Amino acid sequence: MSSTPFLLERLGALVHQSLREDAARHGLLPIHIQVLEYLSQANRYSDIPIAVSEYFGITRGTVSQTLALLERNGLLIKEPDARHGKRVHLRLTAAGRAILRDSWTRRLEAAFPSFESVDRNALDAALCKLLTTLQRQNNQRAFGICRQCTHFLSEARGSRCGLTGEPLAKDQTVRICREWTAPAPTGSALQVT
Ligand code: SF4
Repeated sequence: MSSTPFLLERLGALVHQSLREDAARHGLLPIHIQVLEYLSQANRYSDIPIAVSEYFGITRGTVSQTLALLERNGLLIKEPDARHGKRVHLRLTAAGRAILRDSWTRRLEAAFPSFESVDRNALDAALCKLLTTLQRQNNQRAFGICRQCTHFLSEARGSRCGLTGEPLAKDQTVRICREWTAPAPTGSALQVT
């Protein structure tokens, strides 16, 4: 057996340790930090409570309690959707964004320049393929970067979602989406769980 499973296990353990420390520093639980991180990356189809539930594989009740706490702490607000009835979008406040400024994801990114020989695109593609495979095995929904979705359309007038037919602002094309679909047959989108 290769050392990959053990390396991933060690990395996962370190990430969780960092997450626990980040959360404790702010008087929060790890899931609170994870939800803030998720919402900072989610596109407009995915910054809603049901998507949080799907992404983390947790119940709507747990999501509801988590969002209520983050809202009480002034870390996020709920904005009604202008077109879709009761739907609300979850937006980070300045205080919510500030918590993420020194989070483990930033520290991980900061560590990469010291490994200049690492091809980040190749690394992302390999990890994505592994993640996609494991998600399929576990019947989990895949979330991925919009630009790397099979429905993504780049047109003369700008970007558009082939699934909804709606135009996509530039900042939305680099966010993660609950409707993301891997390009067939060998998708290489970066996914995040
Ligand atoms: S192109 Fe894909 S990832 Fe982007 S908004 Fe549409 S369904 Fe979501």
